[in-house]
Amino acid sequence: MAEDLIHLLPDSVANQIAAGEVIQRPASVVKELVENSVDAGATMIQVRLTDAGRTNIQVIDNGKGMSETDARMSFERHATSKIRESADLFSLYTFGFRGEALPSIAAVAQVELRTRRAEDELGTVIHIAGSKLESQEVDMCPVGTNFQVKNLFFNVPARRKFLKSNQTELNNVIAEIERIALVNPEIAFSLYHNEVELINVQQATLRQRIQHLFGKKLGQELLSVEVDTSIVCVKGCVGIPESARKKGAHCFFFVNGRYMRHPYFHKAVMEAYTHLIPAAEQVPYFLYFTVDPSRIDVNIHPTKTEIKFEDEQAIWQILMASVREVLGRSNMAPSIDFDVADCPDIPVFSSGEALPPPPKPVVDTSYNPFKQSGASDGYKRPSACWDELYKGVEGSQVGRQIKFDALPEEDLPWDVASSMSSANVCQGEHLFEEDDALQYKCTDCFQYKGRYIVASQKSGLMLVDQHRAHVRILFEHYIKQLGGQNAVSQGMLFPEMLELSASQASVMESLLDDFSSLGFDISNMGGGSFAIQGVPDGVAGLNPSRLVADMLAGAMEKGGVSKEEIHHGMALAMARSAALVVGEVLSLVEMCDIVDKLFMCEMPAYTPDGKKTYVVLEDGEVEKMFR
Ligand code: ADP
Ligand code: MG
Repeated sequence: MAEDLIHLLPDSVANQIAAGEVIQRPASVVKELVENSVDAGATMIQVRLTDAGRTNIQVIDNGKGMSETDARMSFERHATSKIRESADLFSLYTFGFRGEALPSIAAVAQVELRTRRAEDELGTVIHIAGSKLESQEVDMCPVGTNFQVKNLFFNVPARRKFLKSNQTELNNVIAEIERIALVNPEIAFSLYHNEVELINVQQATLRQRIQHLFGKKLGQELLSVEVDTSIVCVKGCVGIPESARKKGAHCFFFVNGRYMRHPYFHKAVMEAYTHLIPAAEQVPYFLYFTVDPSRIDVNIHPTKTEIKFEDEQAIWQILMASVREVLGRSNMAPSIDFDVADCPDIPVFSSGEALPPPPKPVVDTSYNPFKQSGASDGYKRPSACWDELYKGVEGSQVGRQIKFDALPEEDLPWDVASSMSSANVCQGEHLFEEDDALQYKCTDCFQYKGRYIVASQKSGLMLVDQHRAHVRILFEHYIKQLGGQNAVSQGMLFPEMLELSASQASVMESLLDDFSSLGFDISNMGGGSFAIQGVPDGVAGLNPSRLVADMLAGAMEKGGVSKEEIHHGMALAMARSAALVVGEVLSLVEMCDIVDKLFMCEMPAYTPDGKKTYVVLEDGEVEKMFR
């Protein structure tokens, strides 16, 4: 008589199989135990490792502890105090709770548990190894729970062999602790490896926690992000462009209080830094999502760090736009008049609807950088308003350049500064009346070394690099033109010929439309020859064939990529050539115009290639210098 073939696996074997999913390395043990301590309401959690956790992992907490029965029960499969019915699986705070961790750990290691509740006089001590209960006693223990996990994978040699070097395993443990510490700043964490302290962070605010974990410098390089829409709420901070690095940037996403990996959202954040940092570099960020748990699926990956969202594309847009907004109006780039809205205003839409267009910067539409002003000094005055302003001013000293070189040294710089800020430099008082009429925000500045505009603003003294600021202003203007209709072109008396190689010529051919939207009139004469017959109104002073060649090179540098990149290259090359140069002496009105226009830009703080356009010397620092 043949025997039946199917039989149930003993629990110990089933647990070992389950353990394979949950427990892969020392770091998984640490993660599960530390998360349990957090759930138990601990305010202090200590982790101690020997040999990167191979021989010993100890997690000690001061949480609520367990009763004798609970202590025994906690090692049963699917034993959990955290969910009661299947509906709970989908509710906010219980994802990831399946009552699998402790039985899995106990299946592949030798575990000692010591635990006591505050209301009990004595605690419970349990020894369990390879799923086998070895002893259970009553003993003196401090309130809280102390898990000791010895000889991980002692009974699964194959798994033991798969462990990496101590350094790698240790790094994984550190990473797990960091992730948990970053969502629980109100809990103190410490980590000791072979009795050496590696982490010791006290209770703190979130910002302090980041600093304690990753250093003060990083803490100072972060900008706050906060956005609240009906599908997602994101809070946290992102690094300033200067914090970018090739490797090892601290990038963290959390959702509903748990760490998650999300390569797609990572791209959204990095996208916001396009042209502000080199393409291969990354910026640190710490972003905390809150979403309705019914709109995410946490079970797509066994270790639950990969999470699927229902509205991924919409969230991508929200994320990208909010980070960009923060960078554009960043705190280190504070404002002449821009503290109106710290929070980006992002439309909310449901996943069924079409995606909203990317946010548009507010741009002065009357602004024409090519409009010639009365001045003949070669500087291409970027504002039409100047013409108006000069009418009332011509002939008076008002708004004329102040040449520092001409002043006796002892007068500098304080006398100039103070006289500039008071009305006596402007004998013709009507300038200020005119200013008021035009609602100038910047009225108080002077030029330093023919290169920087010094202005005071809300929080301190600001130095604007005039060339870089102008590059930013013109760049945004050209980018806008490249998307629109053709700008006015100024015919040239004698067309200039441009001789190009075959590859250049084919790119040039494809860019002719873009050139004409910028106001160039260029014809293909065949055989690699192009005739420049007209240039944008206002760049007449520049060498047209050099300018066009530079722009072509700018576009080709980005060769083969998106139209956007090509436009970026062209606009940047043109802005660089057309921007006012170092040494260009500016009038008060011109300086103010630059400053005002700069802060109307979408990204005032940086040039399109990521260089600072201005710095602020904070009031506090100024005061410190006089102490
Ligand atoms: P889960 O966390 O999914 O509930 P675990 O296997 O990790 O499953 O833990 C089982 C149960 O043991 C928990 O629900 C909790 O009641 C109890 N427990 C585990 N660790 C602790 C601890 N450090 N302090 C108090 N109770 C704990
Ligand atoms: Mg658990």
